Amino acid sequence: MTDRYPQIAAVIYQACATYDPYMPALNPDTAKSWAEAFRHYRLPVDDLLAAVNKLYRERGNNQRGEQFRIMVGDICQAARGIRQDRFDRQSLAAIENHSAVVDARIEPLIMELAESKNVDGHQGAAYLRRQPNPLIVSCPRCHATIGSRCTSGGLTMQAFHERREILAGERAEEQQRESAQ
Ligand SMILES: [Zn+2]
Repeated sequence: MTDRYPQIAAVIYQACATYDPYMPALNPDTAKSWAEAFRHYRLPVDDLLAAVNKLYRERGNNQRGEQFRIMVGDICQAARGIRQDRFDRQSLAAIENHSAVVDARIEPLIMELAESKNVDGHQGAAYLRRQPNPLIVSCPRCHATIGSRCTSGGLTMQAFHERREILAGERAEEQQRESAQ
């Protein structure tokens, strides 16, 4: 993946210069430090531009009538606030979905980490799903087949029928007993 942050830093600096006509030309050291700061927080360009607008709108001139001097730390802080605010305004469902996406993304990494550290099955279990995957059994309630999600009223469910979860737990225990013999 190519690093977009030097380009983003140049765009943001240019945005600041439109507010502040006395802003010096962008030098390589500043460009590098801005790019590093934005990369550190993985800030998207939209949030950074919104942050610049917010800072100049709110700060304007200081008490001595001097033009507000923007600092990269101010931009990062404002952009992070904007990002957090947007996240907080999402519906609960979207936040839960985000958590599920993050879980799905980190699960293989955790598995890999657990393997590389020779974590045995027992200790590793704490890092894995608490419940056995209900997809390993068919659903006694809605008759979804193995590997298919539960349905309700013709719609795919995000969750699983409770009886299927219980059944999956029993099946997983059976399998553990069998493999232990
Ligand atoms: Zn079901």
